[in-house]
Amino acid sequence: EDDEESYYRFMKENPNAGVGVLAAGSDDEDLVGGGGVHTEYDDDGNPLPSNAKKLIDPLPMIYHSEINYAPFERNFYTEHAEIKALSSAAVVDLRRRLNLRVSGPSPPKPVTSFAHFGFDEVLMRAIRKLEYTQPTPIQAQAIPAALSGRDLIGIAKTGSGKTAAFIWPLLVHILDQPALAPGDGPIGVILAPTRELSQQIYAEAKRFAKPYGITVVCAYGGGSKYEQSQDLEAGAEIVVATPGRMIDFVKAKATNFLRTTYLVLDEADRMFDMGFEVQVRSICNHVRPDRQTLMFSATFKKRIEKLARDVLTDPIRIVQGEIGDANADITQDVHVFRSGSSEKWDWLLANLVGFTSSGSLLIFVTKKANAVEL
Ligand code: ADP
Ligand code: MG
Repeated sequence: EDDEESYYRFMKENPNAGVGVLAAGSDDEDLVGGGGVHTEYDDDGNPLPSNAKKLIDPLPMIYHSEINYAPFERNFYTEHAEIKALSSAAVVDLRRRLNLRVSGPSPPKPVTSFAHFGFDEVLMRAIRKLEYTQPTPIQAQAIPAALSGRDLIGIAKTGSGKTAAFIWPLLVHILDQPALAPGDGPIGVILAPTRELSQQIYAEAKRFAKPYGITVVCAYGGGSKYEQSQDLEAGAEIVVATPGRMIDFVKAKATNFLRTTYLVLDEADRMFDMGFEVQVRSICNHVRPDRQTLMFSATFKKRIEKLARDVLTDPIRIVQGEIGDANADITQDVHVFRSGSSEKWDWLLANLVGFTSSGSLLIFVTKKANAVEL
């Protein structure tokens, strides 16, 4: 079982879990939210069977009116001459070609080239180095919105380049602000549902942040709390975190949201599926209300829509492609084997050479011991 599976099993076995009063004062590992499954990890990061059912309390109430937040600039977007010249018919046509559906108050026009974003040479060099030739469709529409300082909700399938769509504008946003002073918390906070996703976002953010000398820290349940809090206390402009761990560190005063002006909820639907709704909302309530908020999700169900209404201000809604589809470039081929038999090993051995000669092979196993054995 991975932590998601064990969560669903636990919820099935304990339909009333998390209903009622939250347990007080947990200061431990990341939790699967309001539902109350507590996943612990051993030193190698493998989930341990969970017995303890501790909960992470959401953050306490905060009174923003009593805090003296510094003003900040949120609009860094100047429409490129080529984009300015597009007629509204051409915009409709471009959105159709990119398979974009856009709603919300006065959304910016989509763009067609990296040159239209107005990024500086440092960022353009990093993008060229990766050999990206043009923005993906979601980037073409979401980046002008994000650079304009707008809240947005982006719905697009996996692999559509959403990470860069919120990282690049975040870097522009950070560069405009005064450097962090000792004790300052992050300017950009990115929440993700799992440690794997937060690590992926962290890797991508670091790649683009590094040339600017911008620091990124990743904080997730299961990682070393000591190291993560040391990194946070040393100061980082960007924090990528799972919600429970983020709350832990704010409570422990390892960091704070006083400088946070850019908040991203990535894979919001999965955060909900995993029961993080209470934590996510409490973090949103703790960040100054006039921040910029970006939310990404692969689906747009009722609860996501409700969250969007509650935590976003006049958002632009961008849907790219068909909601809920698997990526059409991927062929899924499923084989089911009887458990306990050697069938899967025989099958694997018979196919291994073929797979590795035509590409790469990724094998998932349940436990560390299985990985070693394999
Ligand atoms: P998502 O979050 O939408 O699932 P990712 O942000 O993880 O997708 O991006 C998927 C892959 O596409 C990553 O390997 C990323 O580096 C790459 N990518 C992002 N933007 C572009 C681009 N404009 N052109 C080519 N590849 C890109
Ligand atoms: Mg993503």
